[in-house]
Amino acid sequence: MGEIDLNQKLDELKQIKNSFEQDLAACSSPKELEQVRIKYLSKKGLLQSQFSLLGKLPPEDRPAIGRELNTLRTSFQQALKSRAEELEQLERQKEKIDVTLPGYVPFIGRLHPITQTLEEIKDIFSEMGFSIEEGPEVETDYYNFEALNIPPDHPAREMHDTFYLDNRLLLRTHTSPVQIRVMEKREPPIRMIAPGRCYRKDTPDASHSPFFHQVEGLCVDTDVSFADLKGIIAIFAKKMFGEDVKIRFRPSYFPFTEPSAECDMTCIICKGEGCKTCKNSGWLEISGAGMVDPEVFRYVGYDPEKYSGYAFGMGVERIAMLKYGINDIRYFFDNDLRFLEQF
Ligand SMILES: [Zn+2]
Repeated sequence: MGEIDLNQKLDELKQIKNSFEQDLAACSSPKELEQVRIKYLSKKGLLQSQFSLLGKLPPEDRPAIGRELNTLRTSFQQALKSRAEELEQLERQKEKIDVTLPGYVPFIGRLHPITQTLEEIKDIFSEMGFSIEEGPEVETDYYNFEALNIPPDHPAREMHDTFYLDNRLLLRTHTSPVQIRVMEKREPPIRMIAPGRCYRKDTPDASHSPFFHQVEGLCVDTDVSFADLKGIIAIFAKKMFGEDVKIRFRPSYFPFTEPSAECDMTCIICKGEGCKTCKNSGWLEISGAGMVDPEVFRYVGYDPEKYSGYAFGMGVERIAMLKYGINDIRYFFDNDLRFLEQF
């Protein structure tokens, strides 16, 4: 009889083990896991209650069943523990890849308004066939002044409050020296712009900065006239500020152009009616320009009888201030994110 009791008992324990494993696999939370623990391992649980039935078994079967019960209890405890760890890990992974969370917007930097304006200017002139040229910011006196028809003691030098590095080297006060460097190396036809940084000993105020950007333009060919210059500036102004913009030229003086002109465009704030920005004139100055002085051609070895050309220069900060309605040049260089993030 002991034989049968033992086998029956072992079958019964096997069923408890199977059902425990099923219950355990179905658990998806610590709470459910605790219910499984109570169901099998609490005092009146399916497994634990088997210990109290040991006394009713034939004495010879008790050690074998006792050992089996102990083994099962240990394995149930271990299985519960590792399942708990598994669930915890799943829970943590869920936190990591919660697809219902709103996405993070990554912080993306943006181009400085001056860079944006420069890019726009470059695009407009590139479309019209102008090449983009660069030159050094540390220049020699020769390229910055002399070859541009500004010899030593020329009064025009006083308009350029220059940072000298030594007797010969200086920080360029305009991007005009780039036109000399290009003409020295190349024969006409030339259509180029030279964008870049310039430096002057100006005390910073709303419209002055010791550091600023300029775009110099130059066109040289056998038959270039003032009308070409006017046309180019007009197209530029319309593309930059809108189709309604008109331009006008006023006589002016630059040592490296003859004749020279200041170029104005319709005030974009009052549309020509007159306002504070345009000092009630209805016009805003955007560029200095003129026909290249034959003296400059002689410096670079061009024949002034054969070639003619125009040159113009514009301040990038000025263009950006007009375009975006900014009233103080210093905003560009303060690195204040509240300002920069608006562009
Ligand atoms: Zn105005």
